Amino acid sequence: MIEKRMDELIKILNKASYEYHTLDMPSISDQEYDDYYAELVKLEVEHPNLVRPDSPTMKVGYEVIEGFEKVTHERPMMSLDDIFNEEEIREFDRKVRKVVANPTYVCELKIDGLSVSLLYENGKLVRGATRGDGTTGENITHNVKTIKSVPLSLPEDITIEVRGEIYMPKASFESLNKERKEKGEKEFANPRNAAAGSVRQLDSSIAASRNLSTFLYHIPNAVDYHITSQEECLNYMKNLTFTVNPNIIHAKNIEEVIEYISYWQIHRPELPYEIDGVVIKVDKLQDQNRLGFTARVPKWAIAYKFPAEEVLTQLKNIEFCVGRTGKITPRADLTPVHLAGSIISSVTLHNEDYIKEKDIKIGDTISIHKAGDVIPEVVEVKKERRTGEEIDFQMITHCPICGTELVRKESEAAYFCLNPNCDARKIEGLIHFASRDAMNLDGFGENIIEDFYNMKYLHTVDDYYTLYSHKEKLQELEGFGEKSITNLLDSVENSKNNSLERLLFGLGIRHVGKKNAVILASYYKTLDNLMKASYEELITIPDIGEIIAESVVNYFTNEENKTCIEKLREYGLNFSYIGKEKKESTDFSGKTFVLTGTLSIPREEAKEMIEFRGGKVTGSVTSKTSVVVVGDSPGSKYEKAKSLGITIWEEEEFLQKVQEER
Ligand code: NAD
Repeated sequence: MIEKRMDELIKILNKASYEYHTLDMPSISDQEYDDYYAELVKLEVEHPNLVRPDSPTMKVGYEVIEGFEKVTHERPMMSLDDIFNEEEIREFDRKVRKVVANPTYVCELKIDGLSVSLLYENGKLVRGATRGDGTTGENITHNVKTIKSVPLSLPEDITIEVRGEIYMPKASFESLNKERKEKGEKEFANPRNAAAGSVRQLDSSIAASRNLSTFLYHIPNAVDYHITSQEECLNYMKNLTFTVNPNIIHAKNIEEVIEYISYWQIHRPELPYEIDGVVIKVDKLQDQNRLGFTARVPKWAIAYKFPAEEVLTQLKNIEFCVGRTGKITPRADLTPVHLAGSIISSVTLHNEDYIKEKDIKIGDTISIHKAGDVIPEVVEVKKERRTGEEIDFQMITHCPICGTELVRKESEAAYFCLNPNCDARKIEGLIHFASRDAMNLDGFGENIIEDFYNMKYLHTVDDYYTLYSHKEKLQELEGFGEKSITNLLDSVENSKNNSLERLLFGLGIRHVGKKNAVILASYYKTLDNLMKASYEELITIPDIGEIIAESVVNYFTNEENKTCIEKLREYGLNFSYIGKEKKESTDFSGKTFVLTGTLSIPREEAKEMIEFRGGKVTGSVTSKTSVVVVGDSPGSKYEKAKSLGITIWEEEEFLQKVQEER
């Protein structure tokens, strides 16, 4: 059984490796490759007697392609072992420390290109070679000579081999793929494959036209040049006019390494070239020597790979959600998958047109990414993976909750359930009213609201304000007590003083989002003024168009809505615009924040809250950091903040301060 699985994995990995390294056209994603690889490593560790010589864990890269002159590397060109999380970074440090007393590290960006060896004799470039299988590479001198950042001669007449990465900048990659698409040619999967495909050409005019570049990072026999550390090696290469990446640091300890990684995880999109991680190298050559190599990789360096930004998963089913406006949104149920730091098990499919346009079927393999780094989104369907078993998508015709026939209005892509008494719509409306940007009823989570609705304590939004009359019964409910019910009732009571725009937004008038609510509230000052406003008057307000004006007028002429508003007036809610106080925030304004650990709200939201109040958010803790906001399982940033004596707020405290300064 185990042998069979190992055989399968070796076949999959060797085929993928050939397609990736030799053909430069991968058919599976790097994430899948890394997952299969990790599974094979685990089995090999558990069953060392079953390790096979043709296993990909035993070799580097792949054989060279025919047509190229072969180059034998005097010293093997190696790969790097991969790690994926903080624990593994610390584990690497522990292993190094077993051999080296006080290691320091050099942290380099892991450039997503292909490795190259450049040989200079008496200061003249005589040979450029690929890594190949680590021992034998391809002679690509003719192509390397076309790369502008590769010096053809050096300022000194020395003989030296330097190694580094050939890469294709993002902009060149995009225009190359655009061009290929227009010509009907197959696009490159990533800049790495595009760079490799460009230098492994017999015709050097192709490489010359592709705007390739290089970063050099290694001298195989550095001691021969009286170099004693990786840092010195990089400076030595700079002096020889090689391009060395400017974002390299010398880290005194593993904490600084982790800080560097967190910084680049956030700032990676700002670079004009792709990186897929960070390479951590023990600095002193003497220490590197003591650590040595395995058959494939050095033991003194490791590659930390960033979490995948685009992953593949299977679409298991399509479900339908009913929103507060009755809008039906299809949602894909996915095989849970790790994506950029969280586990994703569903993704919105927006509407029927979107599904048809992307040609999505149930059972498909799809790739997803995080749009704006927050919300997962479908990138594309992997049609080549279809088995024929996939099921065509069918839009529903009736509301999945109340059974009412759905309506697709002209000019709208979505279908709607127009039954005002549909339970799903009512519950969503209640949830929206209580939400943070609306009336901010602290403690009223979705489950509590749904339970209170089902128990008939909540039906329309005005019912929040009569909940106190059920206090005794509520206290007896399982999971509640006097204190939690008192807290809920207090937040309802406090919300009566909210400024008008919160109420307006909370009422859920179609097309009146947060921004329009502020515009209307600040213009009309009171709810009564707004209720009297005519369509003609509303459309004269900047930013209020015909659709919004019509929706506002319709809302306030509806009898049920009028009754609800009168009840809210009776319960003492503020109907006036208070506006933002101009007070300078003392807790946020001008301060620098760092977020660490798992927060209960999305990071982007926490960031917005801080920025809205005049603060800024950075990725790493330094002496300039004002406050570190700590969620669950905080990492090294928390430790560092403590050691530097920086103010620390638990998430609860942070949210309280946000409340106070809203
Ligand atoms: P690697 O790319 O994970 O790491 C080693 C390489 O990193 C080095 O050879 C070097 O070229 C490069 N590198 C970039 N910056 C560096 C720096 N500053 N210092 C040192 N090295 C640096 O290993 P690999 O053996 O080249 O390739 C294996 C990886 O390739 C896999 O983990 C997988 O992600 C991908 N792969 C994908 C497929 C696929 O089908 N999708 C198939 C095979 C391999």
